[in-house]
Order: sequence, then C-alpha cells, then structure tokens
Amino acid sequence: MTAHFNLPIAVIGGGPVGLAAVAHLVQRGLPAKLYEASSEVGANLRDWGHVRVFTPWRYCVDPASVALLERQGWRMPPVDVFPTGREIVRDYLEPLAATPELGTVIETDARVLAISRLGIDKVVSHGREERPFVLAVKTPTGTRRDLARAVIDVSGTWTSPNPLGASGLPADGEGAFADRIAHGIPDVLGRDRVLYAGRTTLVVGAGHSAANTLLDLARLARAEPGTSAVWATRGTNLIRIYGGGDADQLPARGELGAETRDLVESGRVPLVAGFAGTRIREQGGRLLVDGETEAGPRTLGPVDRIVAATGQRPDLSLTRELRLDLDPWLESARALGPLIDPNEHYCGSVPPHGHRELAHPEPGFYTAGIKSYGRAPTFLLLTGYEQVRSIAAALAGDMAAADDVQLVLPETGVCVTTLPAEGDTASGCCGGPAPERSADACCLADAVAKKEGRKGCGCGVAA
Ligand SMILES: Cc1cc2nc3c(=O)[nH]c(=O)nc-3n(C[C@H](O)[C@H](O)[C@H](O)COP(=O)(O)OP(=O)(O)OC[C@H]3O[C@@H](n4cnc5c(N)ncnc54)[C@H](O)[C@@H]3O)c2cc1C
Repeated sequence: MTAHFNLPIAVIGGGPVGLAAVAHLVQRGLPAKLYEASSEVGANLRDWGHVRVFTPWRYCVDPASVALLERQGWRMPPVDVFPTGREIVRDYLEPLAATPELGTVIETDARVLAISRLGIDKVVSHGREERPFVLAVKTPTGTRRDLARAVIDVSGTWTSPNPLGASGLPADGEGAFADRIAHGIPDVLGRDRVLYAGRTTLVVGAGHSAANTLLDLARLARAEPGTSAVWATRGTNLIRIYGGGDADQLPARGELGAETRDLVESGRVPLVAGFAGTRIREQGGRLLVDGETEAGPRTLGPVDRIVAATGQRPDLSLTRELRLDLDPWLESARALGPLIDPNEHYCGSVPPHGHRELAHPEPGFYTAGIKSYGRAPTFLLLTGYEQVRSIAAALAGDMAAADDVQLVLPETGVCVTTLPAEGDTASGCCGGPAPERSADACCLADAVAKKEGRKGCGCGVAA
C-alpha cells in the first residue's frame, strides 16, 4: 500500500482552530493541507461578525500562529480590547491565512464531503492503519479524491443548528415557516435590521446567543418604535445565562448575563421559562407557537419572526465511514464528555486535554476545535489552540510535548448550579470565589484544590 507518511495531514475547516492547526504542523515541519468549504477563511466568524466576543485579544490568538504572523511584521492588537467576530477575521485570520506558510496550503471553496480509508470501508480491520485516508472534496470544478496521512476535523458546528422544537426534533411547521426563522445570532442592528425593525420577535434559547440577540433587539427598540421581543426558554433555571456576574473572570461575559437579567427584571422583555415548543402556525400573517409548560398547553405570539438560538450539533455525516468513539449524548470526543457535560457542571474551565482525549479508534483521525465539544457549550479558543498544539506534537512523534498539555482558562464565576433537571439541586462546581457565596461542598473542594496549587474544578470529573 502507499507509503502514506509522505502525504499531507488534512485539516478540515479554516476557522481559527483549523488555521492554528496548520501553524503548529508547519512549525514542526509536517506537510499540511487545509480545506475550507467557504470562499474565505473564518466563514463562521464572519456570519456572527457583528458580535463582540467576551474574551479580549490576548485569549483569541494562538502562539504558533502569532509567531508566523510576526515574521511578516504583524503587530498584536491591544491585548485587553474585545474584538468583534469581524475584527478577529480582519486583523488576525486573514493576515494569518496570507502568510507564505499557510497561503500555499489553504484551499478555499473546497468542501470535504466524506472521509474514509483508501480502498476499504469501515468494516475492514485488517491492515487498516496502513491505508491512507481518502477525502471526497467538492470544488467549483467538480468532486475529486485526495489522500492524507492523518486528518484533523475542525469543521465546527455553526452551520448545523439544533431545531427550535422541543425534544431535539423540529417543531411542526418549522420547515414551512423557515423564511421567518433565523438561527444563531442575526445582525438585527445591521445587515438584518429591516427584518426586525418595528416587529415583534420571539427569541428561543438560553445561551449567550439568545442573550446577544435580546440585547440587540432592546437597542433596536430604542431607535425603532414598535420593535419588541419575547423570550422563551425550555428550562426554568437561568443561572447559566445570568452567570457569575462580577465573579466571572471574563467581565464581558459576566456583563452579558447581568444585562440580560436586567432586561427581564425591568419588564422590557417578557420571559416564558419552561416552554417546550411543538408547533408553529400562522394566523393573520403572523406566527403563533404552541407548546407545553408545566401548567399545561400554552401558545406564544403572535410574532413576526423567530430567532432559534438553540445551539448547534456536529454534522457527523462526513465521518460516517470512520471508526469514531463519541460521547453518547454530547457527540463530543468520548473522553471529553464527562469533563464538559452540562448535566454535571458548568465551567468556563475544563481540565487540560490533548491528543489522547481527541483521538478515535481510527488511528490518525482527530476531532478538534468547537466540534470536539459536540453539543456542549462553553468552548473557548484557547482550548482549541492547545488541542491542536498537542495533536501536531503527537503527529510529529514528540510524545513528551504532546502529553504536556497546559491549559488555564478563565472561569465563569458560576459556582452552584441548579441543573436543567428542573427542581433538582445537584450542584456543579467550578469557578469564582465560591465559599463566601455558598457552602456547597463541591465548591469548597474546588477552592481547596486551587489553594493547594492544584487545578480546581474537580468535582465529579477528573481533576
Ligand atoms: C457568537 C459566538 C461568540 C463566541 N465568543 C467566544 C469568545 O468570546 N471567546 C472564545 O474563546 N470563544 C468564543 N466562541 C467560541 C469559539 O471560539 C468559536 O465558535 C470559534 O469559531 C471556534 O473555532 P473553530 O475553528 O473550532 O470552528 P469555526 O470557527 O466554526 O470554523 C469551522 C470552519 O470549517 C469550515 N467547514 C465546515 N464544514 C466544512 C467541510 N465539510 N469542509 C471544509 N470546511 C468546512 C467552515 O466554513 C468554517 O470556516 C464564540 C462562538 C460564538 C458562536
């Protein structure tokens, strides 16, 4: 079979973590090839380009990438400034993609449709590791097959949104009224203003995307009379979004939660918590959403538009022919599941992890970046950068560096968490100056661990 160790390492996705993966591979002298489905790198950040992130510049860049950029005379933006998605693309990703090292190995308009092993399907075990990977790549001129020695899937989750309906299933009518339903974070103050000005919008979801949209709609309402928003969440405990406030080590994230809480408590945005939407229908040209609450059936609306900020899930279709080991419900890399499971805890921090946790039974295949978290929230760029540093070291055979995973992330300040099993008072640990705020044993253990110089956040998960 082909001597595939001369083949490039395929990196699927030109987001921040994909570009960082190439930078680390290049730094180690390994041949790489990056496939980006869109016509430009940073495609997903461009889509939410109007959103200001809650990590300042210092947490948005990867060290190997910075080294390549600085060789070209690039200057680090002010480290304490919070960029928008658009600014990250303009001031960091575009210059990085244009460096000689990356520019020559990035192919845009190249969507990877499927990955397999050359000449054998998923069932065949004999000699599997000897076979190179084969990638079906769709380009404007047709579909071709490329070979690769190893594959790092950093294709993100942004374009595979969860449905609006409860139970993880689309609500009846979700397809029929798709033209009035936006996913993610529409640019209501800019690109999409005309769709929301003077209208009523139902925002569904309880994460940072919902919070960003609600705050933008509130700003729009000040300028455009008749603009209003209604907020519906499936759960009834909003501590995850309201967050740790002042105790959040990322103040911008703490502020986002605090401002959202203020919108609700001041009565500017009515909140319907514990609403499970099942059906969307039209009445008089506007939309009604039927659903269930603990008190019985309830209908929301009429509204003009709906924003489904219900999170994303990984698209697993391109790895259908590979042997993957995924967490059964998060669809993350299996080893990561217990570390990031929102049923168990809600931390900004996650224990350090690298190539071992991100590998699969398919040797040479790794999932990294936000896709490695599957359906779990709270992924941070720094996590992804350390992931690909470790993977590149492992692929270079430098196992000491690959296993020396260092990751120190800012914490949420959310210490005690009543988890989505509503009414359940199971605690999550992690983050913030806990004991003064709560006598919860988990938080105390977290604080004690940190005091002793160990990583905190160790309740119920490997510390
Ligand atoms: C609104 C928002 C705010 C965030 N704020 C922060 C923050 O403040 N701080 C922080 O650290 N993190 C933040 N994150 C989380 C995270 O850092 C980002 O989601 C980041 O974009 C993840 O980078 P990535 O490279 O893993 O994936 P993405 O940026 O999603 O990149 C994936 C790339 O893969 C491409 N692609 C997809 N499928 C294919 C295919 N089949 N073939 C080829 N290419 C493909 C896509 O076009 C895209 O360019 C935020 C996320 C969101 C959504």
